[in-house]
Amino acid sequence: MKSCECGCGEYTAGGKFRPGHDQKLRSRLEAKTGDLLGMRNLVESAFAYSQGQMSESDFLSHVRSVFAQQHTPR
Ligand SMILES: [Zn+2]
Repeated sequence: MKSCECGCGEYTAGGKFRPGHDQKLRSRLEAKTGDLLGMRNLVESAFAYSQGQMSESDFLSHVRSVFAQQHTPR
């Protein structure tokens, strides 16, 4: 049996998540970055860095700014 990837500690019926738990993980990740726009900023800056379109120092300051604006995790 596989453990649910959301981190709840429960087992799945064979997939990566228990039913609905992919949404729980998505909500938790959004909350860590403030909201969906924070998550977009984080992913897009990571992508730009991976493509050599952003320097390491710019990427790190971008990451810090995303989490500096974070809300209290749900
Ligand atoms: Zn779960």
